[in-house]
Amino acid sequence: MISERVLKELASVLGPEHFTSRCEDLITFGTDATKLRFMPDAVAFPGTPDEISRIFQLANQERFPVIPRGAGSGKSGGALPVEGGLILAMDRFNRILEIDERNLIARVESGVITAVFQEAVEKVDLFYPPDPASIHISTLGGNVAECAGGLRAVKYGVTRDYVLGLGAVLPTGEIIRTGVVTAKGVVGYDLTRLLIGSEGTLAVVTEVVVRLIPKPAYRKTMMAFFETAAATVETVSEIIRSRIVPTALEFMDKTCIGCVDESVGLSAPKGTGALLLIEVDGDKGLARKEATRVEEICSRRGALEFRSPSRRKQGEKLWEARRDVSESLYKLRPDKISEDIVVPRSRMAHFIGFLEGLARTHTLPMAAYGHAGDGNIHVNILFDEKIPGEREKAQTAVKELFLKVIEMKGTLSGEHGVGVTKAPFVEMELSKPVLELMGRLKKAFDPNGILNPGKIFPYKI
Ligand SMILES: Cc1cc2nc3c(=O)[nH]c(=O)nc-3n(C[C@H](O)[C@H](O)[C@H](O)COP(=O)(O)OP(=O)(O)OC[C@H]3O[C@@H](n4cnc5c(N)ncnc54)[C@H](O)[C@@H]3O)c2cc1C
Repeated sequence: MISERVLKELASVLGPEHFTSRCEDLITFGTDATKLRFMPDAVAFPGTPDEISRIFQLANQERFPVIPRGAGSGKSGGALPVEGGLILAMDRFNRILEIDERNLIARVESGVITAVFQEAVEKVDLFYPPDPASIHISTLGGNVAECAGGLRAVKYGVTRDYVLGLGAVLPTGEIIRTGVVTAKGVVGYDLTRLLIGSEGTLAVVTEVVVRLIPKPAYRKTMMAFFETAAATVETVSEIIRSRIVPTALEFMDKTCIGCVDESVGLSAPKGTGALLLIEVDGDKGLARKEATRVEEICSRRGALEFRSPSRRKQGEKLWEARRDVSESLYKLRPDKISEDIVVPRSRMAHFIGFLEGLARTHTLPMAAYGHAGDGNIHVNILFDEKIPGEREKAQTAVKELFLKVIEMKGTLSGEHGVGVTKAPFVEMELSKPVLELMGRLKKAFDPNGILNPGKIFPYKI
C-alpha cells in the first residue's frame, strides 16, 4: 500500500493531470486480456524518461512496486499489479521520432500503437513485419517486453528480429541506451536482446530502434477447408517441407470456425473440420507461383474447398475471420484459459490428436487456432466460473497440456510470455540452475525487487 504522503509526492513529480489514485480511475488498470483483477494504488502517466527515473528513486526509497503497462492486451497477466503499487502507463510516449528512409531504420517511442507505426512506415513503401493479432491495440513497448510474434512470423520472424536498440530506464533510476542505431553492432553484452521478452521485469522501455525492410510488392491470401484437423496440420508440414515459406499459415479448428462463421459469414463447406489461412507475398511472379503450389498441395491433401480471392477486399474478409477468433470464443462459455504452446511443426498432427482426447476427458469445450506455420497453437479451454468445479477442471487440463508439450520437446509459450498465469509451471521447462541465473540477473537490475514483482518466477525473488 502506498501511503498518502508518497501519493502526494508522486503527484508532484508528475503533475496532477498525469497522476491518479481515484478508485474509479484505477479499476481499468487492474485487469488485462486475462480478465484477472487486481487493484493498483495509483496510476502514473509519465512523459519523459527523467520522470520515470524520479519515480524509481521514490519507489526504491519507499519500497513500492512499479508496473509498466502498454495497452493491457497481454495474455499472461504481465501488466497486472499483483502486489498493488503504481501502474506506469506509457500512453504519453506516443511519438514516431524518425523514419530514416536512407538507412532503413526507425526510432519510435514505446507507447505507440503497433498498427499506427506500421501504417506510417508503409506510407513510404517500407515494412515493419511483426504483426500480433492485437496490432490495433498493442503498443511497441508491450511487443518488445513480450517479444511479440504474429501472423507473419513464419516468414519474417518476431519482434526481436527487428529491434536494433532500446532507450530504457533501469529500476535503479539510470537512463540508458542499449544496442545501436546502425544496421549492426556487437560492442559489449547484448542487453537489447536481454530486455526483449523480459516482460517488464528488468527495465522500462521508452524508445525502440527498429530496422525496416522494403514493403513486399504483392500479397495473396488463400483459404483451404479440410475434413479433419489432422489433415489440415499435415498439409502445413507438407507446405513447409516443399520449401515454400508463406508469410502466414494460420490454423483454425471446427469450434473456432463455428464461432466466427456467425459473425463474419465465412460459409464454410459442409463437413469442414478445420481450415488453413495462407498468405504468400513478395515479387508478384514468384508469389503467384508459390500460391499455385500451395493450391496443388492443398488439393492433393484432400481440401474440401480452396478459396483464392482475386480482390484485396475479399482477402481482408478472410483475415477478419482470423482476428475475430479469440473474442468470438466467449460465445461458448463466459471464461477461458488461453495458452500459446509451441510444438515441433512435424508433430502437430500428433498434438492435435492429444488435444481432442483432452477435451473428451475433461468434458469442457476446447478450441485450437493459431500460427500453425510456427507450430504455435493457441489452445483455449472454455469454462464457466459460476459452475462449481469447472475452473478446477480447466486448470487440471492446463497442467496435462503442459506436461504433454514438454514431453514433445515443445515450449510453454511462443509469444504471450510467462507473466503470472504461467509462473507456477515455469519449472517444468526451465532447470534450477537456469532459473537461479535468471534470478541473479533480476537482482542485478533490480536489487530491491520494485519492478513488476510476482512475474515469471514461481517464487519470490
Ligand atoms: C485478441 C488478441 C490477440 C493477440 N495476438 C497476439 C499475437 O498474435 N502475437 C503475440 O505475440 N501476442 C498477441 N497477443 C498478446 C498481446 O497483445 C501482446 O503480448 C502485446 O505485445 C502486449 O502489448 P501491450 O502494449 O498490450 O502490453 P501490456 O499488456 O500492457 O503489457 C505486457 C507486458 O509488457 C510489459 N510492458 C508494457 N510496456 C512496457 C514498456 N514500455 N517497458 C517495459 N515493459 C513494458 C508489461 O509490464 C507486461 O509485462 C494478443 C492479445 C489479444 C488480446
